[in-house]
Amino acid sequence: MTCPICEKPADKAFRPFCSRRCADVDLSRWLKGSYAIPGPPAGEEDGAMAVDDAESPENRPFGRPDKGMDRE
Ligand SMILES: [Zn+2]
Repeated sequence: MTCPICEKPADKAFRPFCSRRCADVDLSRWLKGSYAIPGPPAGEEDGAMAVDDAESPENRPFGRPDKGMDRE
């Protein structure tokens, strides 16, 4: 097995890396990668939808209360 960072032979103590430094490099890459996932983050998407809903009252159908009354 070789170190995925520098491709030197891996050390048993730091498998699959060759050294603690390479393990740290991989960890920081992984952490950065988790923040750079393509596509909108779930939290932002939620906020955008809430704003969109509030800024477009036309999207709220007038028939909504009528439907409620019709059912009752
Ligand atoms: Zn390495």
